[in-house]
Amino acid sequence: MSFVPPGGTIGILGGGQLGRMLALAAARLGLKAHIYSPPGEDAPALQVSDAQTLAPFDDRRALAKFARACDVVTLEWENVPVETVAAISVTTPVLPRPATLGVTQDRLDEKRFIDSLGLKTAKFGHVSATEQGRDAFLQFGEDRAVLKTRRLGYDGKGQAVVRSGEEFLEAFKSFHEVPCILESFVEFDFEASVVAVRGVDGTLAAYDPSENIHSNHILRRSVVPARLSPERTKEAKAIARKIADALDYVGVLAVELFVMNSGALLVNEIAPRVHNSGHWTIDGCLISQFENHIRAIAGWPLGDPARHSDAVMENLIGDEASEWRALAARGGALHLYGKREIRAGRKMGHVTWLSAKTASG
Ligand code: AMP
Repeated sequence: MSFVPPGGTIGILGGGQLGRMLALAAARLGLKAHIYSPPGEDAPALQVSDAQTLAPFDDRRALAKFARACDVVTLEWENVPVETVAAISVTTPVLPRPATLGVTQDRLDEKRFIDSLGLKTAKFGHVSATEQGRDAFLQFGEDRAVLKTRRLGYDGKGQAVVRSGEEFLEAFKSFHEVPCILESFVEFDFEASVVAVRGVDGTLAAYDPSENIHSNHILRRSVVPARLSPERTKEAKAIARKIADALDYVGVLAVELFVMNSGALLVNEIAPRVHNSGHWTIDGCLISQFENHIRAIAGWPLGDPARHSDAVMENLIGDEASEWRALAARGGALHLYGKREIRAGRKMGHVTWLSAKTASG
Protein backbone atom coordinates (compact mmCIF):
# COMPACT_ATOMS: atom_id res chain seq x y z
CA MET A 1 0.00 0.00 0.00
CA SER A 2 1.25 3.44 -0.79
CA PHE A 3 1.32 6.03 1.95
CA VAL A 4 -1.10 8.93 2.31
CA PRO A 5 0.73 12.28 2.27
CA PRO A 6 -0.39 15.43 4.11
CA GLY A 7 -3.46 16.81 2.35
CA GLY A 8 -4.80 13.27 1.81
CA THR A 9 -8.16 12.06 3.09
CA ILE A 10 -8.82 9.46 5.80
CA GLY A 11 -12.30 7.94 5.62
CA ILE A 12 -13.83 6.98 8.96
CA LEU A 13 -16.83 4.66 9.27
CA GLY A 14 -18.83 5.84 12.26
CA GLY A 15 -19.28 9.32 13.71
CA GLY A 16 -18.95 8.88 17.48
CA GLN A 17 -16.40 10.27 19.91
CA LEU A 18 -13.72 7.85 18.69
CA GLY A 19 -14.20 9.17 15.15
CA ARG A 20 -14.07 12.70 16.51
CA MET A 21 -10.74 12.14 18.26
CA LEU A 22 -9.35 10.35 15.18
CA ALA A 23 -10.38 13.31 12.99
CA LEU A 24 -8.69 15.74 15.38
CA ALA A 25 -5.50 13.65 15.30
CA ALA A 26 -5.61 13.52 11.50
CA ALA A 27 -5.96 17.31 11.37
CA ARG A 28 -2.82 17.71 13.48
CA LEU A 29 -0.91 15.83 10.76
CA GLY A 30 -2.37 17.91 7.94
CA LEU A 31 -4.70 15.12 6.85
CA LYS A 32 -8.43 15.47 6.20
CA ALA A 33 -11.17 13.31 7.69
CA HIS A 34 -14.29 12.22 5.82
CA ILE A 35 -16.90 10.78 8.20
CA TYR A 36 -19.46 8.21 7.04
CA SER A 37 -22.32 7.99 9.52
CA PRO A 38 -25.89 6.70 9.36
CA PRO A 39 -28.32 9.65 9.10
CA GLY A 40 -30.17 10.99 12.10
CA GLU A 41 -27.52 10.16 14.68
CA ASP A 42 -26.08 12.72 17.06
CA ALA A 43 -22.61 12.10 15.60
CA PRO A 44 -19.96 14.31 17.26
CA ALA A 45 -17.28 13.54 14.65
CA LEU A 46 -19.25 15.53 12.06
CA GLN A 47 -18.37 18.78 13.88
CA VAL A 48 -14.62 18.40 13.39
CA SER A 49 -14.29 16.79 9.95
CA ASP A 50 -13.64 18.06 6.46
CA ALA A 51 -16.36 16.03 4.71
CA GLN A 52 -19.40 14.01 5.72
CA THR A 53 -21.55 11.32 4.15
CA LEU A 54 -24.81 10.68 5.97
CA ALA A 55 -26.15 7.39 4.64
CA PRO A 56 -26.96 3.88 5.88
CA PHE A 57 -24.16 1.31 5.91
CA ASP A 58 -25.88 -0.65 3.13
CA ASP A 59 -26.23 2.24 0.66
CA ARG A 60 -24.03 0.93 -2.17
CA ARG A 61 -23.98 4.18 -4.14
CA ALA A 62 -23.05 6.28 -1.13
CA LEU A 63 -20.36 3.77 -0.15
CA ALA A 64 -18.85 3.80 -3.66
CA LYS A 65 -18.78 7.60 -3.73
CA PHE A 66 -17.27 7.74 -0.24
CA ALA A 67 -14.60 5.18 -1.20
CA ARG A 68 -13.58 7.24 -4.24
CA ALA A 69 -13.23 10.36 -2.09
CA CYS A 70 -10.85 8.72 0.42
CA ASP A 71 -7.22 7.56 0.23
CA VAL A 72 -7.66 5.01 3.00
CA VAL A 73 -10.69 4.05 5.10
CA THR A 74 -10.86 2.95 8.74
CA LEU A 75 -13.56 2.45 11.34
CA GLU A 76 -14.38 3.65 14.80
CA TRP A 77 -17.14 1.10 15.44
CA GLU A 78 -16.26 -2.58 15.26
CA ASN A 79 -19.73 -3.73 14.26
CA VAL A 80 -19.76 -2.02 10.86
CA PRO A 81 -21.13 -4.79 8.59
CA VAL A 82 -18.38 -6.82 6.90
CA GLU A 83 -20.25 -6.33 3.57
CA THR A 84 -19.91 -2.55 3.95
CA VAL A 85 -16.19 -2.82 4.46
CA ALA A 86 -15.86 -5.32 1.59
CA ALA A 87 -17.74 -2.98 -0.79
CA ILE A 88 -15.40 -0.09 0.03
CA SER A 89 -12.26 -2.18 -0.23
CA VAL A 90 -12.96 -2.84 -3.94
CA THR A 91 -11.86 0.76 -4.57
CA THR A 92 -9.94 1.89 -1.50
CA PRO A 93 -7.87 0.10 1.13
CA VAL A 94 -9.66 -0.49 4.44
CA LEU A 95 -7.53 -0.87 7.56
CA PRO A 96 -7.81 -2.87 9.75
CA ARG A 97 -8.49 -5.46 7.05
CA PRO A 98 -12.04 -6.78 6.52
CA ALA A 99 -10.89 -10.29 7.54
CA THR A 100 -10.07 -8.99 11.03
CA LEU A 101 -13.68 -7.90 11.53
CA GLY A 102 -14.83 -11.37 10.50
CA VAL A 103 -12.97 -12.69 13.56
CA THR A 104 -13.74 -10.01 16.14
CA GLN A 105 -17.46 -9.53 15.37
CA ASP A 106 -18.26 -13.02 16.59
CA ARG A 107 -17.40 -13.73 20.23
CA LEU A 108 -17.10 -17.46 19.57
CA ASP A 109 -14.81 -17.12 16.53
CA GLU A 110 -12.80 -14.56 18.49
CA LYS A 111 -12.33 -16.89 21.50
CA ARG A 112 -11.40 -19.78 19.19
CA PHE A 113 -8.86 -17.55 17.45
CA ILE A 114 -7.31 -16.45 20.76
CA ASP A 115 -7.23 -20.06 21.91
CA SER A 116 -5.53 -21.13 18.66
CA LEU A 117 -2.67 -18.74 19.46
CA GLY A 118 -2.07 -20.56 22.74
CA LEU A 119 -3.33 -17.61 24.81
CA LYS A 120 -5.46 -18.14 27.91
CA THR A 121 -9.20 -17.29 28.02
CA ALA A 122 -12.16 -18.13 30.21
CA LYS A 123 -13.44 -21.65 29.56
CA PHE A 124 -16.04 -21.33 26.79
CA GLY A 125 -18.66 -23.33 24.94
CA HIS A 126 -21.11 -22.85 22.11
CA VAL A 127 -24.88 -22.55 22.55
CA SER A 128 -26.76 -22.97 19.28
CA ALA A 129 -30.33 -21.90 18.63
CA THR A 130 -31.60 -25.46 18.66
CA GLU A 131 -29.83 -26.44 21.86
CA GLN A 132 -32.37 -24.84 24.16
CA GLY A 133 -32.40 -27.31 27.01
CA ARG A 134 -31.09 -26.46 30.44
CA ASP A 135 -28.55 -29.24 29.79
CA ALA A 136 -26.33 -26.76 27.95
CA PHE A 137 -25.63 -25.04 31.25
CA LEU A 138 -25.49 -28.21 33.36
CA GLN A 139 -23.07 -29.92 30.98
CA PHE A 140 -20.83 -26.88 31.08
CA GLY A 141 -20.05 -27.92 34.65
CA GLU A 142 -19.61 -24.50 36.31
CA ASP A 143 -21.80 -23.14 39.12
CA ARG A 144 -21.76 -19.68 37.59
CA ALA A 145 -21.35 -18.74 33.94
CA VAL A 146 -21.80 -15.78 31.60
CA LEU A 147 -24.07 -16.19 28.61
CA LYS A 148 -23.26 -13.77 25.77
CA THR A 149 -24.75 -13.38 22.31
CA ARG A 150 -22.12 -14.22 19.69
CA ARG A 151 -22.73 -11.00 17.79
CA LEU A 152 -23.47 -7.33 18.47
CA GLY A 153 -22.61 -7.19 22.15
CA TYR A 154 -20.90 -4.24 23.81
CA ASP A 155 -20.76 -2.53 27.21
CA GLY A 156 -22.50 -5.52 28.79
CA LYS A 157 -25.37 -5.59 26.27
CA GLY A 158 -26.31 -9.10 25.21
CA GLN A 159 -24.81 -10.79 28.25
CA ALA A 160 -26.11 -12.24 31.50
CA VAL A 161 -24.68 -14.09 34.48
CA VAL A 162 -26.48 -17.40 35.01
CA ARG A 163 -26.38 -19.70 38.05
CA SER A 164 -28.81 -22.47 37.17
CA GLY A 165 -30.41 -24.23 34.25
CA GLU A 166 -33.52 -22.10 34.77
CA GLU A 167 -31.58 -18.84 34.72
CA PHE A 168 -29.76 -20.02 31.67
CA LEU A 169 -33.03 -20.70 29.84
CA GLU A 170 -34.46 -17.37 30.89
CA ALA A 171 -31.42 -15.45 29.64
CA PHE A 172 -31.27 -17.43 26.40
CA LYS A 173 -34.95 -16.65 25.75
CA SER A 174 -34.42 -12.96 26.53
CA PHE A 175 -31.73 -12.99 23.78
CA HIS A 176 -34.40 -14.41 21.39
CA GLU A 177 -32.44 -17.67 21.24
CA VAL A 178 -29.80 -16.29 18.90
CA PRO A 179 -26.48 -18.21 18.82
CA CYS A 180 -24.57 -17.59 22.04
CA ILE A 181 -21.33 -18.36 23.80
CA LEU A 182 -21.25 -19.59 27.39
CA GLU A 183 -18.18 -18.60 29.40
CA SER A 184 -17.03 -19.55 32.88
CA PHE A 185 -17.41 -16.66 35.33
CA VAL A 186 -13.87 -15.43 35.88
CA GLU A 187 -13.02 -14.44 39.48
CA PHE A 188 -10.41 -11.94 38.38
CA ASP A 189 -8.39 -9.70 40.67
CA PHE A 190 -8.82 -6.75 38.34
CA GLU A 191 -9.28 -5.85 34.66
CA ALA A 192 -6.58 -4.36 32.45
CA SER A 193 -6.10 -3.64 28.80
CA VAL A 194 -3.22 -3.09 26.46
CA VAL A 195 -3.48 -0.72 23.51
CA ALA A 196 -1.00 -1.35 20.70
CA VAL A 197 -0.41 -0.09 17.18
CA ARG A 198 1.00 -2.06 14.27
CA GLY A 199 2.35 -0.42 11.15
CA VAL A 200 2.06 -1.57 7.53
CA ASP A 201 5.63 -2.93 7.77
CA GLY A 202 4.79 -5.02 10.85
CA THR A 203 6.43 -2.67 13.38
CA LEU A 204 4.60 -2.76 16.69
CA ALA A 205 4.42 -0.19 19.46
CA ALA A 206 2.49 -0.86 22.68
CA TYR A 207 1.35 1.60 25.33
CA ASP A 208 1.71 0.70 28.98
CA PRO A 209 -1.34 -1.32 30.08
CA SER A 210 -4.07 0.44 32.03
CA GLU A 211 -6.08 -0.91 34.93
CA ASN A 212 -9.78 -0.51 34.16
CA ILE A 213 -12.62 -0.05 36.61
CA HIS A 214 -16.16 -0.65 35.29
CA SER A 215 -19.55 0.01 36.76
CA ASN A 216 -22.74 -1.29 35.18
CA HIS A 217 -20.48 -2.73 32.45
CA ILE A 218 -19.37 0.76 31.40
CA LEU A 219 -15.77 1.87 31.78
CA ARG A 220 -15.57 4.34 34.66
CA ARG A 221 -11.86 4.87 35.06
CA SER A 222 -8.50 3.80 33.61
CA VAL A 223 -5.38 4.03 35.75
CA VAL A 224 -1.83 3.92 34.39
CA PRO A 225 0.37 2.23 35.39
CA ALA A 226 -1.73 -0.85 36.17
CA ARG A 227 -0.74 -2.97 39.17
CA LEU A 228 1.30 -5.32 36.97
CA SER A 229 4.90 -6.42 37.52
CA PRO A 230 7.41 -5.48 34.80
CA GLU A 231 7.27 -9.14 33.60
CA ARG A 232 3.46 -9.11 33.35
CA THR A 233 3.56 -5.75 31.61
CA LYS A 234 5.90 -7.29 29.05
CA GLU A 235 3.66 -10.31 28.76
CA ALA A 236 0.59 -8.11 28.16
CA LYS A 237 2.41 -6.32 25.35
CA ALA A 238 3.59 -9.65 23.91
CA ILE A 239 -0.04 -10.87 23.88
CA ALA A 240 -1.03 -7.79 21.85
CA ARG A 241 1.87 -8.41 19.46
CA LYS A 242 0.94 -12.05 18.97
CA ILE A 243 -2.66 -11.15 18.15
CA ALA A 244 -1.73 -8.24 15.87
CA ASP A 245 0.86 -10.30 13.97
CA ALA A 246 -1.55 -13.21 13.50
CA LEU A 247 -4.16 -10.85 12.00
CA ASP A 248 -1.54 -8.98 9.92
CA TYR A 249 -3.17 -6.04 11.64
CA VAL A 250 -2.62 -2.41 10.67
CA GLY A 251 -3.65 0.33 13.10
CA VAL A 252 -4.53 0.43 16.80
CA LEU A 253 -6.11 -2.47 18.60
CA ALA A 254 -6.93 -3.03 22.26
CA VAL A 255 -6.78 -6.32 24.10
CA GLU A 256 -8.94 -6.55 27.23
CA LEU A 257 -7.48 -8.74 29.94
CA PHE A 258 -8.58 -10.35 33.20
CA VAL A 259 -5.74 -10.32 35.74
CA MET A 260 -5.97 -13.24 38.14
CA ASN A 261 -4.75 -13.34 41.75
CA SER A 262 -1.87 -15.50 40.59
CA GLY A 263 -0.96 -12.74 38.13
CA ALA A 264 -2.01 -14.88 35.14
CA LEU A 265 -3.47 -12.92 32.22
CA LEU A 266 -6.63 -14.13 30.46
CA VAL A 267 -7.77 -12.50 27.24
CA ASN A 268 -11.40 -11.32 27.42
CA GLU A 269 -11.73 -9.66 24.05
CA ILE A 270 -10.07 -7.82 21.19
CA ALA A 271 -11.28 -4.39 20.06
CA PRO A 272 -10.13 -3.73 16.49
CA ARG A 273 -10.05 0.03 16.95
CA VAL A 274 -8.92 2.83 19.21
CA HIS A 275 -10.25 2.19 22.70
CA ASN A 276 -11.74 4.08 25.63
CA SER A 277 -9.03 2.67 27.92
CA GLY A 278 -6.46 4.42 25.70
CA HIS A 279 -7.90 7.95 25.98
CA TRP A 280 -5.28 8.77 28.62
CA THR A 281 -2.62 8.61 25.86
CA ILE A 282 -3.80 11.98 24.47
CA ASP A 283 -2.46 13.73 27.57
CA GLY A 284 -0.07 11.13 29.00
CA CYS A 285 2.05 10.44 25.91
CA LEU A 286 3.74 12.48 23.23
CA ILE A 287 1.86 10.56 20.53
CA SER A 288 -1.68 9.38 21.35
CA GLN A 289 -3.45 6.20 20.30
CA PHE A 290 -5.47 8.32 17.86
CA GLU A 291 -2.46 9.82 16.14
CA ASN A 292 -0.70 6.45 16.02
CA HIS A 293 -3.76 4.88 14.41
CA ILE A 294 -3.78 7.57 11.73
CA ARG A 295 -0.02 7.22 11.23
CA ALA A 296 -0.31 3.44 10.86
CA ILE A 297 -3.15 3.40 8.33
CA ALA A 298 -1.59 6.28 6.36
CA GLY A 299 1.67 4.31 6.13
CA TRP A 300 3.66 6.81 8.19
CA PRO A 301 6.34 5.97 10.77
CA LEU A 302 4.75 5.18 14.13
CA GLY A 303 5.17 7.54 17.08
CA ASP A 304 6.78 6.65 20.39
CA PRO A 305 4.14 5.18 22.76
CA ALA A 306 6.18 5.96 25.91
CA ARG A 307 4.26 7.86 28.55
CA HIS A 308 5.73 10.88 30.26
CA SER A 309 3.37 10.74 33.29
CA ASP A 310 1.16 8.53 35.38
CA ALA A 311 -2.46 9.06 34.35
CA VAL A 312 -6.00 8.54 35.57
CA MET A 313 -8.74 8.88 32.98
CA GLU A 314 -12.32 9.26 34.18
CA ASN A 315 -15.26 8.98 31.85
CA LEU A 316 -18.01 11.59 32.13
CA ILE A 317 -21.19 9.57 31.86
CA GLY A 318 -24.68 11.03 31.42
CA ASP A 319 -25.34 13.95 33.77
CA GLU A 320 -21.75 14.15 34.98
CA ALA A 321 -20.90 16.26 31.95
CA SER A 322 -23.23 19.02 33.09
CA GLU A 323 -20.63 19.72 35.81
CA TRP A 324 -18.28 20.95 33.07
CA ARG A 325 -17.68 24.30 34.75
CA ALA A 326 -16.52 22.73 38.04
CA LEU A 327 -14.53 20.10 36.16
CA ALA A 328 -12.78 22.74 34.07
CA ALA A 329 -11.75 24.49 37.28
CA ARG A 330 -10.24 21.35 38.83
CA GLY A 331 -7.12 21.27 36.69
CA GLY A 332 -7.43 17.99 34.79
CA ALA A 333 -7.46 17.80 30.99
CA LEU A 334 -11.15 18.08 30.09
CA HIS A 335 -12.46 16.54 26.87
CA LEU A 336 -16.11 17.05 25.91
CA TYR A 337 -17.47 15.24 22.87
CA GLY A 338 -20.01 17.82 21.73
CA LYS A 339 -23.00 15.46 21.96
CA ARG A 340 -26.29 17.35 21.79
CA GLU A 341 -28.26 15.22 24.18
CA ILE A 342 -27.30 13.97 27.63
CA ARG A 343 -28.66 10.48 28.23
CA ALA A 344 -28.16 8.10 31.16
CA GLY A 345 -25.20 5.80 30.50
CA ARG A 346 -24.00 7.88 27.54
CA LYS A 347 -20.30 8.74 27.32
CA MET A 348 -20.28 12.55 27.11
CA GLY A 349 -16.59 13.26 27.69
CA HIS A 350 -13.63 12.39 29.87
CA VAL A 351 -11.06 14.01 32.14
CA THR A 352 -7.43 12.96 32.44
CA TRP A 353 -5.37 13.67 35.54
CA LEU A 354 -1.60 13.46 35.31
CA SER A 355 1.02 13.01 38.01
CA ALA A 356 4.76 12.36 38.06
CA LYS A 357 5.71 9.07 36.42
CA THR A 358 6.31 6.39 39.06
CA ALA A 359 7.18 3.19 37.19
CA SER A 360 8.38 2.47 33.71
CA GLY A 361 6.30 -0.70 33.19
P1 AMP B 1 -17.35 -7.80 27.44
O1 AMP B 1 -18.52 -7.21 26.72
O2 AMP B 1 -17.05 -9.22 27.07
O3 AMP B 1 -16.14 -6.91 27.37
O4 AMP B 1 -17.74 -7.81 28.98
C1 AMP B 1 -18.01 -6.62 29.70
C2 AMP B 1 -17.61 -6.79 31.13
O5 AMP B 1 -18.32 -7.88 31.74
C3 AMP B 1 -16.12 -7.16 31.31
O6 AMP B 1 -15.33 -6.00 31.29
C4 AMP B 1 -16.16 -7.84 32.68
O7 AMP B 1 -16.23 -6.89 33.72
C5 AMP B 1 -17.47 -8.60 32.64
N1 AMP B 1 -17.25 -9.98 32.12
C6 AMP B 1 -17.28 -10.36 30.84
N2 AMP B 1 -17.03 -11.67 30.70
C7 AMP B 1 -16.83 -12.16 31.94
C8 AMP B 1 -16.51 -13.44 32.46
N3 AMP B 1 -16.40 -14.52 31.67
N4 AMP B 1 -16.34 -13.55 33.80
C9 AMP B 1 -16.49 -12.48 34.62
N5 AMP B 1 -16.79 -11.25 34.20
C10 AMP B 1 -16.96 -11.07 32.86
